[in-house]
Amino acid sequence: MKLNYAKIFQLEEEYGSSFYLLDVDKLKGNYRKMEEAFTSQYPKCIIGYSYKTNYLPFLCKELSSLGAYAEVVSRLEYDLAVKLGENPERIIFNGPVKTKDDIFRALHNKSILNIDSLYEIEYVKEYCFNHPEEMIKIGLRLNFPLSDGGESLLQDGYEVGRFGICVENGNLQTAINMLCDVRNVKIVGLHGHFSTKTRSVKAYRLITKKLCVLAKHFFKDTIEYIDIGGGFYGELPKGFHLEAPSFNDYAEAIGETMIKEFAGWENKPLLIIEPGISMVANVFRFAAKVIEVKNVRDNTFVLVDGSVHNIKPTMHKNNLPMQVITQNEGGNRNSQKTFSIVGYTCMEKDYLAHNVVSPIPCIGDYVLFDNVGAYTIVFNPPFIKERPAIIAIRDGETIVARKKETIKEFFNEALYLF
Ligand SMILES: *Cc1c(COP(=O)(O)O)cnc(C)c1O
Repeated sequence: MKLNYAKIFQLEEEYGSSFYLLDVDKLKGNYRKMEEAFTSQYPKCIIGYSYKTNYLPFLCKELSSLGAYAEVVSRLEYDLAVKLGENPERIIFNGPVKTKDDIFRALHNKSILNIDSLYEIEYVKEYCFNHPEEMIKIGLRLNFPLSDGGESLLQDGYEVGRFGICVENGNLQTAINMLCDVRNVKIVGLHGHFSTKTRSVKAYRLITKKLCVLAKHFFKDTIEYIDIGGGFYGELPKGFHLEAPSFNDYAEAIGETMIKEFAGWENKPLLIIEPGISMVANVFRFAAKVIEVKNVRDNTFVLVDGSVHNIKPTMHKNNLPMQVITQNEGGNRNSQKTFSIVGYTCMEKDYLAHNVVSPIPCIGDYVLFDNVGAYTIVFNPPFIKERPAIIAIRDGETIVARKKETIKEFFNEALYLF
């Protein structure tokens, strides 16, 4: 859909002066490209969409209808997937904190359950003893060092990751021992999701290889899946400040490694991937109206009806790709100036963009920020203002995927004492 000022103004009339736009065709394109990339390298592949990255119900259902499994990391997300009609056998339940009831529910429903710590194994054992007639299958998330030439590949400079069961200190062996006298349980999966600094192809080769080697060593007779998690780059907009590997680059490295490691196996394990960012980042835009253009000493601030929380909850300093939709298209646009775009909160650091060099937008224009689909909708705090509407665009049609919040939902009377 072409977004000119007339269209934006029409949306403003209905939804107010800031809103998200979800491009459904692009979402479908991402899913199909990823599926094609991975299945062409390794046909036995499952894509589990990482709910926490953006659990907009409309979006989760759309991905499910394309064939995605649901990858969840809490009971809240698990229950959402069920509520959306997902078959529980197509839910992958990860995450560090699970109650006994969570584990019982997942096992009863035959969901794909990956254990993150040893305490969960006690619950698994209890379930097994209570249900001697069932054969229980579980996966283990593993923790092992991930380094390239001695340098840790983990995000934010961490030397040691906190997730999963440690292989090096013998905890993996402990987990196996804890279950060795349980007749009706099988460890069928190994999981390794890592957040790496560079999201490099090389990191995925290392992760895949390590999981395959451990699977062959410890679980040769029971292994059914290798789950390498998410963390891939998605397609970045042209002119973005970095180069990223493509889905094909990742798929080739991971697929090749699987094929090599399981060479000669008649029944090779399934490959599970759990993309989040790479599936949804580039399918959302955020539109915010320019309220004021003001000068403070030598600086120009463009004030919009939006906040850094709407587009960059981590408040990083890189400017997102953006576009200005102006009312006087073809009119006299002023020359290139430097300005910053600031938001409605009362925080000094509420910058949506720093030092943009471009013609200065006018009051009433719209700024469209691109690539805002990941960790925004789920991370947008209820701070100062209601959260904006989300408008999906499918086949040129607009669909309200989420209404603009009102004071009624913001201060839910069922929760707060008035
Ligand atoms: C967050 C997460 C993902 C998705 O990560 P992205 O970086 O959004 O692709 C996948 N699996 C697990 C276990 C996660 O915690």
